[in-house]
Amino acid sequence: MRRPELRRIALISVHTSPLAQPGTGDAGGMNVYVWQTARTLAQRGIDVEIFTRATSSADAPSVRAADGVLVRNVVAGPFEGLDKRDLPTQLCAFAAGVLRAEAMHPPGHYDLVHSHYWLSGQVGWLARDRWRVPLVHTAHTLAAVKNLALAAGDEPEPMLRQVGEQQVVAEADRLVANTDAEAQQLISIHHADPDRVDVATPGVDLTTYRPGPRDVARAELGLDPGEVVVTFVGRIQPLKAPDVLIRAAAPIIDRARASGRRVRVLVVGGPSGSGLARPTALIDLVAELGIADEVTFLPPQRPEMLATVYRASDLVAVPSYSESFGLVAIEAQASGVPVIAADVGGLGVAVHDGVTGMLVGGHRIDDWTAAIDGLLAHPRRLAEMGAAAVTHAQNFSWDHTADQLLESYHRAVATYDGAVSRPEQIPTPSTRGTRRWSRRRSG
Ligand code: UDP
Repeated sequence: MRRPELRRIALISVHTSPLAQPGTGDAGGMNVYVWQTARTLAQRGIDVEIFTRATSSADAPSVRAADGVLVRNVVAGPFEGLDKRDLPTQLCAFAAGVLRAEAMHPPGHYDLVHSHYWLSGQVGWLARDRWRVPLVHTAHTLAAVKNLALAAGDEPEPMLRQVGEQQVVAEADRLVANTDAEAQQLISIHHADPDRVDVATPGVDLTTYRPGPRDVARAELGLDPGEVVVTFVGRIQPLKAPDVLIRAAAPIIDRARASGRRVRVLVVGGPSGSGLARPTALIDLVAELGIADEVTFLPPQRPEMLATVYRASDLVAVPSYSESFGLVAIEAQASGVPVIAADVGGLGVAVHDGVTGMLVGGHRIDDWTAAIDGLLAHPRRLAEMGAAAVTHAQNFSWDHTADQLLESYHRAVATYDGAVSRPEQIPTPSTRGTRRWSRRRSG
């Protein structure tokens, strides 16, 4: 069968721009995913336009971010100070901006719309109906899954988000999950039709994240070449559990100190969300544990410098409570560093347990201390894991992700019938406490 041609697609990323610095606030793996897949699809000859919310009066209405990639900054609500939880109030304004931008062109400007995260799915669903093109949706995280694995003191995602996710699952022509397990969650929690779910495994920029001499990386960062360095990279928020690493490392640091050695924890990233978001919370914890001299905090870094951070590390820790995939784990491995990760979500795919690192069940501090200690006690094994990690990471390229996305896009276009109406009864997400609800659409 001849493949339908895809000339131009619209990507929707309401809450965060692919041009924002990841590793702080609401910017993280999704930004990297949207940016890298857009660039790679553009290299395949598809024009990609990314719609995102303007967050500064200095944002130009549109920015040519790379060959074939246009970022459209849609004005919807105040530029600054709008909490992610309040964004649903601006979806109408955002959707109006998206529809108006398309209306400047002759009909048929876009061949497909791909929304990222449920807020974008709500806009994509409207665009789909207006433009009569298929909607492909990637959830990135699901509220129901996140709520099952909350860190202490973390706020649960509101029921309305689950309802919104359910609506988008019901409306999208195809769904793209990061892993097989996530595809299953879409089916079991949100009743997605298994025939409409595809998997596109996230990737890593293998030219930026590659192995290199540790001493050179240490010198660049001003780190002591004789220390053992265990690193955390990511947004500082309860879900990412940097506090679990710090607490687990404290006895290891103490023991090393007593025997004249030095173990350092490097924390890279900026505040995000609630709880640990208070910039001083981790600093207070480190002082309380008496390890302030052995913990270094660095602000969010650009990819080239982040690669240096990974190369300078003996071990990278990803102790998250929940993780759709975990790009940090794969970037660290591509840079030649083994990863110790919580056995949650996509981290079981990103890390080959016992070969490229280790998966730890649960978040008991003693378990994490024992696991980190066990790995650091065997430098030769750690070096072997680092070498295996580089090989493992080669399976995760953005080119591969783009291949999988294109398969999904082509299926969406090939099966799209232009229908606007859907079943009147949209099922209830399979989570406790959800009330029955239904929705009626006109054709
Ligand atoms: N990141 C970055 N600079 C930093 C910290 C993080 O560029 O200082 C990037 C990192 O390279 C990764 C992303 O932020 O690509 C985090 O993605 P991940 O999937 O690990 O977590 P998420 O943010 O999606 O929860």
